[in-house]
Amino acid sequence: MAHPLLEEFEQTGEMGILMSTHDWSKTPFGDPSTWPEGLFSLIGVMLENKIAMCILWGPDFLQLYNDAYVPILGNKHPAAFAQPMYVSWPEVAESARSITDDVLKGKSVHFRNKKYTVNVGAHPEEHFYTYSCVPIRVRPGAVSGVLMTSIEVTQEIVREGALKESERIFRAYQEQSPLPFLSMNKDLVVDYINPAGIRHMVVTGQTVEVVGKSFFELWPATRGTIFEESTMRAMKGEVVEYEARYEPLDRWFRILVYPQLDGLGVYYQDISVNKELQLSLEHAVRARDQFLSLASHELNTPLTSLKLNTQMMERSLESGKLDHDRLKKFFQQTEFHISRLGQLVGDMMDSSRVREGRFNLKLETLDLSQLVADSLERYAPQFIVSGVRAPVINRKGKNFQIKGDRERLDQVMCNLFSNAIKYGKGNPVSVTIEEEAQEVRVSVKDQGIGVPPGEEDSIFEQYHRSSSAVGEGLGLGLYIAREILRALGGRISVESEQEKGSTFSLWLPKVLVGQSDK
Ligand code: ADP
Repeated sequence: MAHPLLEEFEQTGEMGILMSTHDWSKTPFGDPSTWPEGLFSLIGVMLENKIAMCILWGPDFLQLYNDAYVPILGNKHPAAFAQPMYVSWPEVAESARSITDDVLKGKSVHFRNKKYTVNVGAHPEEHFYTYSCVPIRVRPGAVSGVLMTSIEVTQEIVREGALKESERIFRAYQEQSPLPFLSMNKDLVVDYINPAGIRHMVVTGQTVEVVGKSFFELWPATRGTIFEESTMRAMKGEVVEYEARYEPLDRWFRILVYPQLDGLGVYYQDISVNKELQLSLEHAVRARDQFLSLASHELNTPLTSLKLNTQMMERSLESGKLDHDRLKKFFQQTEFHISRLGQLVGDMMDSSRVREGRFNLKLETLDLSQLVADSLERYAPQFIVSGVRAPVINRKGKNFQIKGDRERLDQVMCNLFSNAIKYGKGNPVSVTIEEEAQEVRVSVKDQGIGVPPGEEDSIFEQYHRSSSAVGEGLGLGLYIAREILRALGGRISVESEQEKGSTFSLWLPKVLVGQSDK
């Protein structure tokens, strides 16, 4: 029959029942009625406990344990119950002996994450325990046993080890990675930057003292930009990928920022070169599309006029009203439209020649002043037709000798005259030719609509027509002019005030006296 005190333990669980129903008389414990009272109290505390506990009783360390201790025993349970500890655990005998000896002498011992290789499953395995062994005193002046309280921490240690290992592998990868990477803590203070990141800092002339500094301290201009917004989104748990230009460095970045355990990880790539290519490609595609619609419109205008003209002539012919004057006018108009078409097609062909570098220049020493005068003379009728007085040439200096291609320079001048008429609001135009120290300068000044601020360079780009451009045009004339001047070692630029007028100036290297034949 069970001892009444042991019976009370039946409620505590599996081990309580085992304690109560065990036949103790045949064990070294003897009949429970002979047990010291203190042992009962201790067993009660142990069985109620949810933390693994084991009493090692008497000189043989006979094991009594609670339900929480059962998993620690593994396949040693239930054989281990009331068995001497060193019978159940021969594999730990060597290292555990000194501990049990110490406790028997009245000392308490404690261990954290202590490793044992134990046979609690199919094979010997490493297990980790955090445990305390304290002496049990039920009689004055003697230690009757050891109370062991133990927590198995194997899983935590393995997890921590795996985490450390994966962190090590990750760091090793970061160290090798050609992609800059940095990580920041929750206060956005950089705690790691990889060598590629440092290299990028060096290349872009920034400080290499990055670790320990905050994101905003390092890159203050990110405040209020997509950089800050994306960083904050990542802080809230989002993975954010974006492209942005960092103003002070004038560089484009592709950035991936993601939340990690205790802050943020940031991969970034300097894509400035690609971005510039992409932007100029996009610009080129836009310009091409604009050009195509412009070109079809421009080509269509003279074609439509030609068609109308021809139809009218046909009708006049049929009705017998075709006289000499009408016929002459028809031919004049037809010639005008054909020459406009020829000019447009010529500009288009020129621009592709220029782009492909196929410029056949016929170089000769020329008096630029004479060349400008000739061009102006030939262009005079256009001024008259447009109601603008033909300009006189204002000369400053003596030597206007340059090396150039007569036809091409005439083309440049005609373009400048044509623009001065087109964009000159009918106001007078003036032409100046000046001898400078090393160059000869020609300026064509009008008092027209002017060039909008900020577009002084872009109007020289292919297909570019300023936002205030009026009338017809393909946006090619100035581009061709700039390329002709470049090929001749000269340059062209504009000074302008909107609604006041523009002065287009070109410069060509002066041929010094005695050099002309070289
Ligand atoms: P197009 O006149 O055929 O459009 P250009 O290459 O000659 O092409 O000129 C490019 C642009 O520059 C024009 O569309 C116009 O916006 C601007 N531009 C050129 N000349 C003048 C000028 N004299 N005054 C104001 N704007 C001008």
